[in-house]
Amino acid sequence: MKYKYSPPFIIKQIFNDFYWNTSNNKILLTFDDGPTEEATEIILTTLSKFGIKAAFFCVGNNVEKNQSLVKEILNENHLIGNHTFNHKRLTRISNSEAIEEIDSFNNLMKNSFDYEMRYFRPPYGRFTISTQGILKEKNMKCVMWSLLTEDYKNNFETVKFAVKNYLKKNSIIVLHDSIKSKDIIRDSINLIIDEALSNGFTFGEPEKCLNNN
Ligand SMILES: [Zn+2]
Repeated sequence: MKYKYSPPFIIKQIFNDFYWNTSNNKILLTFDDGPTEEATEIILTTLSKFGIKAAFFCVGNNVEKNQSLVKEILNENHLIGNHTFNHKRLTRISNSEAIEEIDSFNNLMKNSFDYEMRYFRPPYGRFTISTQGILKEKNMKCVMWSLLTEDYKNNFETVKFAVKNYLKKNSIIVLHDSIKSKDIIRDSINLIIDEALSNGFTFGEPEKCLNNN
């Protein structure tokens, strides 16, 4: 499945144990694909100015390469989630490969940072019926989204259109910690904050936004 801004209702119904929105009517910012030398610092500085805590769905091999950035993310009390070790599309690999992609990254976080991974986001938003069972077995929650900003297109006007039209009080927003979005990431975060505050919406802490049961 490939989504434009927001996933289809029927998918949300079938995978109703996945998070498609926050559970506390607050906004959650999420940053996929990092950490990166190009964007992570910009994101952390911008968020800390407003005291906002976000979820970083990192990729294992970027974590391996950028361990000091991982420490900074954790020191700022942001959440780190699993976005596979090698950014693999789950629809194109076997179940055992999918398990290896998730486990190897979980183990890296445990061994290097004493950090327990509890949340997962599938690369490209693609998953299979098995994904649900694999995550359940690991006691991990799948975090999807309700608002895709398409910031990876590196066009601020595209982000603006998505945010102005689709931001809600319980949005899970996808942004990217990546070289593709680094030029517009600061403006994109600031825009979302402006738009949220002018609508009377607030930002939640990741663990509290993702707390159905
Ligand atoms: Zn990704």
